[in-house]
Amino acid sequence: MNQLIRCKHCDEIFMKTPFDQYPEYEGDSGRSGENFRSFPRDDFQDFLIHHHGHPLENLKIIEDSWVSEKPYSEPIKISFFKATNGKDKFVIKKFRDRIEEPLKYQLILGDYSLKCTALEIQSEEISKQMKRELNPPPSQNQIDGFLKLVRHVFERIDLNDCERVPEESHHPLEAYYKIDDLRLMVLLRNCRHIFKGKEYSAMEEFIHGHKDDGVLLLKATYKIQLTEMAKPKIKPVPAALSLGKEKII
Ligand SMILES: [Zn+2]
Repeated sequence: MNQLIRCKHCDEIFMKTPFDQYPEYEGDSGRSGENFRSFPRDDFQDFLIHHHGHPLENLKIIEDSWVSEKPYSEPIKISFFKATNGKDKFVIKKFRDRIEEPLKYQLILGDYSLKCTALEIQSEEISKQMKRELNPPPSQNQIDGFLKLVRHVFERIDLNDCERVPEESHHPLEAYYKIDDLRLMVLLRNCRHIFKGKEYSAMEEFIHGHKDDGVLLLKATYKIQLTEMAKPKIKPVPAALSLGKEKII
């Protein structure tokens, strides 16, 4: 199991994982396996040596606090999560600069939240889907009229009143929301001005088919807003424990 350890003196952290003690291998692939030499590697031991004499504590990761600016599958990215020692909360930045490097963890004093930066209808997808699905194909005027109507219906919407569709997004900073019943009614009613007879019936079907998990979902884009706090003054380490090499800011 992973264990997150903080040096209270240096505000540095170590994520102890079952992989810390894996040996590193060095060898020439052209030769036989016997030429491989293994170097025991223990990153946690290095951390303990570096922070010898400093007070250490365990931090508990706060569930569901993970955020990242790039998709889950992206190997090189910065992500953040929160952790606590039971009293104070900390932000942990997790990152790597190059794919072959191990993950790095950095402790940040502060907090973060997600701020909605854009709320939009999926115009391009709606337009493409209408051309693909509707028979007879809608005219450009009808498509434009419908997009204008959808935009109008979603105007001044409050996301707190909307139901989020959780499985729809593969990006951590994008979320999709469903149209509510009242707006759905307004949309259907006003569609009668743009589509007549059979065209209207087809549109009614189109709207019902795309309102829960399709192109009629409203797309919200978020940004990670990180607020860093000034570091409180570090208490002097008793002289006997001071290694004289620590970075004191
Ligand atoms: Zn330390």
